[in-house]
Amino acid sequence: MVLAALLLGTAGRASAADFDLVALGVDGGLQNGNLSAWLVRADGEPRYLALDAGTLLSGIDVALQHGAFDDRKPDPALTPAGDVLRNAIAGYFVSHAHLDHVAGLLVDATDDSPKPIYGLASTLAVLSRDYFNWDAWPNFADRGTTPALKQYTLRDEPPGQWFAVDGTSLRAALYPLTHDRVTSSMILLQHGGAYLAYFGDTGADTVQHSDRLQTIWKLLGPLQKRGALKGMLIECSYPDRVDDAHLYGHLNPAWLLRELQRFEQAAGGAGSLRGLDVVVTHIKPSLRRATDPRREIADQLRAGNTLGLHFHFAQQGDLLKLPSAE
Ligand SMILES: [Zn+2]
Repeated sequence: MVLAALLLGTAGRASAADFDLVALGVDGGLQNGNLSAWLVRADGEPRYLALDAGTLLSGIDVALQHGAFDDRKPDPALTPAGDVLRNAIAGYFVSHAHLDHVAGLLVDATDDSPKPIYGLASTLAVLSRDYFNWDAWPNFADRGTTPALKQYTLRDEPPGQWFAVDGTSLRAALYPLTHDRVTSSMILLQHGGAYLAYFGDTGADTVQHSDRLQTIWKLLGPLQKRGALKGMLIECSYPDRVDDAHLYGHLNPAWLLRELQRFEQAAGGAGSLRGLDVVVTHIKPSLRRATDPRREIADQLRAGNTLGLHFHFAQQGDLLKLPSAE
């Protein structure tokens, strides 16, 4: 059986997943125990890169209950969640410095281990200036207001340049996104011949008067064409009833589908995205009775899915393997 699995693995098509994802936080606001945060690793490796960190320990607790870390041999000196935080997370990527993407990182910094934080220079400058300044929070970073505690090494990464993710076999490159008045970013991860794209918050090019998504579609198009793109995580914050004036630099299903149609063109035209795994992130919950934005957005994306995409709506604590088996 093992040999058969290995043989299938080397044959390519029937191989195991390339990337493992753990959903630590999936919402785009409101619930402070479930804000944007994902862990990603090359399938089967011991250590993860965190993709944003709106929620850490409370998401790790839920993921532990769901068995997402059953392959770990926990450190006997630590709680299981403490072991994941300190030992399994090799570093952080911060897409932009909005509070709902960094709150978990800040709150849990007091008990974290030393590690790098990767981001665009503009993002890390905000982290340093507005949070790690001894006024908002102690300076856990390695620059800025003295004394710098140097627990976190802030790693400015120039757009489009590949770098190694320390402590993992992943490589990565960052690309800017336009998110209302903030520069957000996408991280493209590479392991062997496999790629995965994680988008921070972004609006549509047309709404944002930007061409940054189109630049990214042209970059990802050739990867998709040769079957190397194993999935993407991208936001869809609001349902379609939210009009353009109230999207605040986010996507709704209509705009996400239009952007993905532009990606389809860049990837070779009709049918070229068939079967691609798209994990939908950052859905904004509602406090109004009788509204369920998650369901609304899922229905709207599925109804408009003429591209043959495989949409995923993960819940906190879920383990996803990409590409998915279907
Ligand atoms: Zn944001």
